[in-house]
Amino acid sequence: MPIESNIRKLIAKNGLIKIDDLMREALSASPSAYYRNKIPTGESGDFVTAPEISQLFGEVIGLWAIEKWEKLGRPKKISLVELGPGRGYLMRDLLKVAELEPDFFKAAEISLVEINENLIAEQKKNLKNSGKKIQFLDHIFKFKSKSPTVFLANEFFDALPIKQYTKHKELWYEAILIEDPSDGKIKYDKIGVNNKKLAEQFKIDHPEASDGAFLEESLESLETMRFIADFIKKFGGRALIIDYGYYAPPAFRKRSEYISTLQAVKNHSYAPALENIGESDLSAHVDFYSLEKTCRESGVEPEKLTTQRDFLLKYGISLRLESLSKILPKNEAETLSKQAARLISPSGMGTLFKVLSI
Ligand code: SAH
Repeated sequence: MPIESNIRKLIAKNGLIKIDDLMREALSASPSAYYRNKIPTGESGDFVTAPEISQLFGEVIGLWAIEKWEKLGRPKKISLVELGPGRGYLMRDLLKVAELEPDFFKAAEISLVEINENLIAEQKKNLKNSGKKIQFLDHIFKFKSKSPTVFLANEFFDALPIKQYTKHKELWYEAILIEDPSDGKIKYDKIGVNNKKLAEQFKIDHPEASDGAFLEESLESLETMRFIADFIKKFGGRALIIDYGYYAPPAFRKRSEYISTLQAVKNHSYAPALENIGESDLSAHVDFYSLEKTCRESGVEPEKLTTQRDFLLKYGISLRLESLSKILPKNEAETLSKQAARLISPSGMGTLFKVLSI
């Protein structure tokens, strides 16, 4: 377990590791990190994503993208940028639908933001017949264009590192991890918040938080959001961010909503977050209120946050299912219908996943 031993070395050197540093180390920083080389998704991976469940997912996003391109005045060039494209299924299915509107298809220029060489190989394979040239970037900040741009991210923001803060006797601390000398296990602890102003701000913003409360902040998510919003403000465009997460404006946040959302998933089951570090997918729920706030700070107004279910229904999953079912053999139509039900299930993915449209 090279990643865990790296992390233990860092703890030995500094006495501790912060949660965002742990996530960065485990997920992306070193060549052996989880998202650098594992194929995380699919039946053989640790979790299955919506574009892998059904082609309908990317197809409906394609219908959404065509509508937005029309609203933008049918520009002759439009960039489509996907962050963390996984196996490339979403883009493949989107482009299939895009061919229904030849002017849109012709206008589209594709960029994929990915750090995983194995997934880049998969993306190349799955987009080989798309009829489009693809640009690959290892960071969104490297994206350069002056054309209106549609940014897409499904299950990307949850993989970005978070900081955690915790309240103890009326004071806020930063949560950290240490190695317990008694049993050698990696455990939670806390240190004073370096930035005194921030600690004061927490006190003002979160008076309802009780002892032991957790508060999370993903600086990388906010920087990414700011880049996207600034880009849209300057050159025009849209963004679609789909992920599991929460919406908690401080003034209305309930006591029960101050919890740690750091989680690990391995072989399609939840696993203890601090065991097998680097072997399982570590993620955190996405803080949609803070993403919206960052967007507004850049002068861009997001649409009202919605659920995956409502989004897919609004943009025509039922119609698409109906028209495909007419031309597919009965058993394939039934499979497609089951897949659609899974994507919009009111007790599962359909409501767990939220859609931020900008
Ligand atoms: N969107 C895909 C995959 C989701 S998994 C789907 O829905 O199927 C998360 C994706 O983000 C993977 O492609 C992973 O390699 C990529 N990723 C994770 N951290 C990243 C980072 N820091 N920069 C770029 N891509 C990253």
